[in-house]
Amino acid sequence: MKVEEKKVVSITYELKQDGNDGEVLETVTMENPLTVILGIGNLLPAFEDKLLGLSEGDNFNFTLSAEEAYGGYNDNAVISVPKETFVVDGKLQEEMLYEGNAVPMMDEQGNKLTGVITSVKDDHVVMDFNHPLAGIDLFFKGEVVGVRDATPSELEHGHVH
Ligand code: ZN
Repeated sequence: MKVEEKKVVSITYELKQDGNDGEVLETVTMENPLTVILGIGNLLPAFEDKLLGLSEGDNFNFTLSAEEAYGGYNDNAVISVPKETFVVDGKLQEEMLYEGNAVPMMDEQGNKLTGVITSVKDDHVVMDFNHPLAGIDLFFKGEVVGVRDATPSELEHGHVH
């Protein structure tokens, strides 16, 4: 059976930054393969395109450019946030305010987003709201370990049972 839209596909892979010699960013093994229904927006479209037509047991390796993946790095997504933002019940949450901390936030429209603190100043912190993989070319090397039809209820729910 070949990988097509509306099939349930299981894959293992290693994700590296830029290319085969790059830093390993993520490893997905047989113990816990990534299993998704294709063609319903679960994966990056460019990633799905690379899997289409493969069969169980096929290996793959390919690079997605940053533009095909999580977009370029946007300098405007790095902003100063006043420390008052982190006051809860009248108390500044000092323990949250350290470099590298990923903090769940909400924008003015109520959308959830995560910002990573890149520096802590006297009265504000600088936060980076770029996707952690923004601006990075992604190299995937892996194997298709399963392909099957999705059940009607899986298609209805949009996830694998
Ligand atoms: Zn369900």
